[in-house]
Amino acid sequence: MPRRVSIFGATGSIGQNTIDLIARAPGDYTVVALTGATNIDRLARDARALNAQIAITAHDDLLADLRAALSGTGIEVAAGARAVEEAASRPADWVMSAIVGHAGLAPGLAALRQGATLALANKESLVCAGALMLGTARAHNARILPVDSEHSAVFQALTGEDMAAVERVIITASGGAFRDWPIEDLAAATPGQAATHPNWEMGQRITIDSASMFNKAMEVIETREFFGVDPDQIEVLVHPESMVHALVGFRDGALMAHVGPADMRHAIGYALHWPERRHIPVERLDLAAIGSLSFRPPDDTRWPALRLARDVMAMGGLAGAVFNAAKECALDGFIAGRITFPEMAQVVETVLDRIATRGGHIDATMTLDNVAQADHVARQEARAVIEKRAG
Ligand code: NAD
Ligand code: MG
Repeated sequence: MPRRVSIFGATGSIGQNTIDLIARAPGDYTVVALTGATNIDRLARDARALNAQIAITAHDDLLADLRAALSGTGIEVAAGARAVEEAASRPADWVMSAIVGHAGLAPGLAALRQGATLALANKESLVCAGALMLGTARAHNARILPVDSEHSAVFQALTGEDMAAVERVIITASGGAFRDWPIEDLAAATPGQAATHPNWEMGQRITIDSASMFNKAMEVIETREFFGVDPDQIEVLVHPESMVHALVGFRDGALMAHVGPADMRHAIGYALHWPERRHIPVERLDLAAIGSLSFRPPDDTRWPALRLARDVMAMGGLAGAVFNAAKECALDGFIAGRITFPEMAQVVETVLDRIATRGGHIDATMTLDNVAQADHVARQEARAVIEKRAG
């Protein structure tokens, strides 16, 4: 029986890598839903190629374009956030969650409610609503498998191990585009410069988040949620070569490291084939040719986002939802040229402080509505802070 798969965020970087793997073994899969946003040509092309049951764009106003692009194929079309969420409740065995940002949360939850295995690239959903995601998975006998390369690496290093024997989890960071820039120059950094990554090919937003380490900050929180380790057991290590993705330290002093090329198809393929390991067409590392790997501690002055992640974990509750929303707005503000690169962290810190001082939102029970409310309030606050700064 072919496995039924759906891909949310199919037109993005993770989505396209997922399609690359699935298209290599077409007989193994039945594609249920593919979703995208603005790139209708790509969505329609892949829906045809994979003979998807339904293709959905998140944008209502693009429905006519999608319908025209798929006319005569028998492939259903739909549009809007609600339609994306509904598609996630169509029965599927394996669902890739690769929408970028908070928009990935509701479809991820819907997929868990129908008992699918959720391959989670959308780290934002764990940062915003970790307990809700994990609780929903438990309640519906669904499984969440990590796709973020660091978390896939930790997951693999933990196979067959007892969590009680784990002392620490170390995730690595390349340091992104500005790793070696003088700190004084960061105020003049442009979005174009921030969106070039030394090692990984990724979407624009996560690439800029790599330069600011907001991506790593999110991943620290993701590590806490995924593996249930305490904040003080999580370490970040700068590793410019991006070959060791994570290490797990055990109480006997052993470190299990996961080493592989910087190619997301490894982590995606691991989640697709788990618990088996199948052939995946990634580069095989020649360590003798590579010669050496380097590591250094991260610098909190250069990357204040890492300190903010610690604050968020200490606050608990819905602080992650506030953090993520403020970060998404700050990133929009930077991309639009309204604020500078270092101001992104200042905006997020101000929003966290203000909402924490006012109370209420962060301590609210973690329901989807309360998460949406915290997200909404944080975005309003962030936009106000950005407008004030941008003058
Ligand atoms: P991307 O920008 O390349 O793709 C994003 C996808 O989300 C696209 O399909 C887009 O159409 C869709 N989308 C955007 N806004 C939407 C909305 N409002 N509603 C519905 N769909 C929307 O991003 P990416 O790099 O593929 O990243 C996707 C997710 O995976 C992110 O959460 C990111 O943090 C995570 N991730 C990515 C990588 C990577 O290598 N690219 C690695 C680890 C984790
Ligand atoms: Mg990662």
